[in-house]
Amino acid sequence: MTTTFTLRYEGAPSCVDCQREGVPLCAHVGFNPEAWDGMIGQGVHAPGLDPTYVHILRSAEIASDRKTITLVVDTERPDMMDLARHLSRRPEVTAKAAVRAVHHETGEQLEEGWYDRPLIEGMQVAIDRDVYHVAKVEHPNRDPETGAAGQDIDWQVAHLVPQPDAGVTPSR
Ligand SMILES: [Zn+2]
Repeated sequence: MTTTFTLRYEGAPSCVDCQREGVPLCAHVGFNPEAWDGMIGQGVHAPGLDPTYVHILRSAEIASDRKTITLVVDTERPDMMDLARHLSRRPEVTAKAAVRAVHHETGEQLEEGWYDRPLIEGMQVAIDRDVYHVAKVEHPNRDPETGAAGQDIDWQVAHLVPQPDAGVTPSR
C-alpha cells in the first residue's frame, strides 16, 4: 500500500538570528533536505502511520519555504508469527513460551504449542492463512504474588480476535 502525506515543521518559525531582528517567519529553519536524502528506501515512522507496520520511504519533497514535507511511503505487512508453526507441541527446552491460543468469544482452542517468543497484547498473529489480533494474554498458572508458575507449565493463554483480512499470506 502506498500512502502520501504531508508533515508540518513544528519547530520555531524563524531562526535565532531572525528572531533577534524581529523577523517572525524565515526560511532558515524547517525541514533539511540533506537529512532526508539518506532516508529514501529506509523504514520511517511518522505521526499517523501505524507503528506496527514497516513504512518504506519512497520520496520526500520539501516545500520551498521548508515548512512542510510531503512523504510517499510504501507500507508492508510486518512479519507475522504463525502459530501453526511451532517449535514443538511438547515442552521444549529452547522454547521461550508455551502458548494456548483460544478464540476470544467461543473459547475454542485454536492452537497450542511452544514458540520462540511469547505473544504480546495488541500484536497480530497468523494461524496458517488466518490473521488474528491478540486481544488479551493471561498466565493462569502464575502465582499472583510471586509471578512464578512453579512446577506447572507457564501457559500463556492468548485470546484471539479473527481479523477480516482474508487472502493475506503471512511471511514465513
Ligand atoms: Zn532566519
